Amino acid sequence: MSAERTPSGAAKVIPIQEVEQALYEVRKKIYPRAVHGTFAAWRWAFVWLTQLIFYGLCWLPWNDRQAVLFDLVHRKFYIFGWVFWPQDVFYLAIILIISALSLFLFTTVAGRLWCGYACPQTVYTEMFLWVERLVEGDRAKRMKLDGAPISAHKLGLKTAKHTIWIAMALWTGFTFVGYFTPIRELAAEVVSASLGPWETFWILFYGFATYGNAGFMREQVCKYMCPYARFQGVMFDPDTLVITYDRERGDPRGARGRKTDHRAAGLGDCVDCEICVQVCPTGIDIRNGLQYECIGCAACIDACDQVMDKMGYARGLIRYSTENALRSHWGRADILRHIARPRVIVYTVFLTAIVVALMWGLAVRVPLKVNVMRDRAALAREVENEQIENVFRLQVMNTTEAARRYRVSVEGMQEISIASEPLIEVGPAGSHQVAVRVRAPRGAGRSGANTIWFVVRAEDDQRVVVREKASFLVIR
Ligand code: SF4
Ligand code: SF4
Repeated sequence: MSAERTPSGAAKVIPIQEVEQALYEVRKKIYPRAVHGTFAAWRWAFVWLTQLIFYGLCWLPWNDRQAVLFDLVHRKFYIFGWVFWPQDVFYLAIILIISALSLFLFTTVAGRLWCGYACPQTVYTEMFLWVERLVEGDRAKRMKLDGAPISAHKLGLKTAKHTIWIAMALWTGFTFVGYFTPIRELAAEVVSASLGPWETFWILFYGFATYGNAGFMREQVCKYMCPYARFQGVMFDPDTLVITYDRERGDPRGARGRKTDHRAAGLGDCVDCEICVQVCPTGIDIRNGLQYECIGCAACIDACDQVMDKMGYARGLIRYSTENALRSHWGRADILRHIARPRVIVYTVFLTAIVVALMWGLAVRVPLKVNVMRDRAALAREVENEQIENVFRLQVMNTTEAARRYRVSVEGMQEISIASEPLIEVGPAGSHQVAVRVRAPRGAGRSGANTIWFVVRAEDDQRVVVREKASFLVIR
């Protein structure tokens, strides 16, 4: 049983089966108002930068191929002059560690910078919102249009908006797939309507995800789907830069005329215009304090600064600040002085060390890989002149983009030698597997396994050399 009050105030008993409880909060559509200012300009700068890279990089040629191509079919990743193989997964792990550490560092110093400026969800929502404003108008017009009954005008605007959105989403899906399949070939297949089923599926899949996330889900992705929003709080400390409303300065809030002496009237600087709420893409009121829904886009800072300008008050009622700075009335210099704290120093040292290690690793990387496998079909056997022969399979991978000849030799036991062809030719960014017969006199090693080393060296560059360990079996 449950109870609610009648208009007279008496309790009315309701059977429990009639009490409905929603599992999810009902979504109220958000109509963010357009905003201009310093931080909006920064956000757009990041939109341009990230999208120029994303849409443009896959068209950039390099050595007769695409500059950046993750060729999953042939299991080779091309990044400008480098060719990576699955064996280079180590570099991928290092890049992931660098990304995670960078995220920790930037979040500790300046909160959700990534979310506010560079996250694809923010960037695509910004682009889709721009189209929405272009077609349907700003906040008030969009709200009016959505509330209006269906008409030819409304249908026309909605069709135009969705057509542009779908075109953008499909282009995004096409570009994304173009990093895994050479994009010029992909474009030719699109034009000739001969796309393969997988390419069609992934273009539609990523296109649909972009359309859904940027056109409809928007802030819901940040609020309910993104794990980063949930755990970022543990990276914050009282010296982390966050977007804050200066309650001490702004309250008590209230409307007033431009010429009113609001201090004399007992009012703070907040005119309670709610423009900061109207521009917020997640629909929150920053004046209620830091909330996990805040993606740190700084739209409310720009909006409030414009209001402050109109009122003739100092800017920065909503601003980047820290908990300690607000409490202790610190200026910019004090905030900057508190950036270098133990956690930030530890992250910076680790990050620098790993970046330097990665750079060094790439600089001295030998463009040759060798795998040695014992030939299971041919174990050790005795051949002429009391020699023992073992057969190995060598996989030689040339990670340069020119064909190369390699000489194979072997060391580690007395008089051990290669009994088969020692020269191996491998095509550009290619791999070649050969059976190599290795012989040693019966008395050269102890009975059983003996450690030997295969040395594979490029004929045209003696510095390109790889030594691989193997076991040579001696039978008695
Ligand atoms: S509160 Fe301000 S910074 Fe946070 S999401 Fe809303 S507009 Fe962006
Ligand atoms: S924009 Fe500024 S003045 Fe207007 S309600 Fe928000 S904090 Fe107050």
